[in-house]
Amino acid sequence: MLHWIRSLFTLLFPRYCTVCDNILRGDEKRLCLKCDINLPRTYYHLQKENNLEKLFWGRIPIERGTALFFYNRGSDYRAILHHLKYKNDPVIGSIIGEQMSMEFAESDFFTGVDVIIPVPLHSKKLRKRGYNQSEEIAKGVARATGIPLDTTSVKREKDTETQTKKSAFERWENVSGIFVLSQPEQFVGKHILLVDDVLTTGATICAVADAFKEVEGLRFSVLTLAVAQQ
Ligand SMILES: [Zn+2]
Repeated sequence: MLHWIRSLFTLLFPRYCTVCDNILRGDEKRLCLKCDINLPRTYYHLQKENNLEKLFWGRIPIERGTALFFYNRGSDYRAILHHLKYKNDPVIGSIIGEQMSMEFAESDFFTGVDVIIPVPLHSKKLRKRGYNQSEEIAKGVARATGIPLDTTSVKREKDTETQTKKSAFERWENVSGIFVLSQPEQFVGKHILLVDDVLTTGATICAVADAFKEVEGLRFSVLTLAVAQQ
């Protein structure tokens, strides 16, 4: 009976795969099984000294780093990021954030992490979008791991113009010194997990870490949904 009702519900209110637009069935949440299986996963959580971690060597005290999947300009999987950022679909962030955290739980990726901090949005942008996409991902991570989420200690003070058309060097110039930390003393000796939607040059993560530069004994791990294919 229950199955019958569920089938009728699916017929009346079909849901579609974010990537391929096929109708979702059963407990498929945002991706169909095929798109989920074919997602170009990085598996960086199983690889020590991976390319994502290396990106931060000599820049911040990096402990571990991973991303769920690789993306490039032509990839169908960009639809996930597009939905999260531009289609008023915050829930996809927390759903995928939770699912990837359960996948990463097979490794020691979250071991010893004290607090999760998503990259903050400037208040102007937050008002415009209505939510912070990185915070939505972080909510899912917190839900899956039970690690506390801190969305108030770091603030983005300066708004920056869109970074997509800037060179890597200009992006550097653009983000340094724009995040401000309150109550730095509470972070002494902590292991902080910084969460963002996409990783390209790492400049934004480094700019957030820069706000912690007076804090002793800090370590950072980095988790993003996607990383630009190298
Ligand atoms: Zn699909």
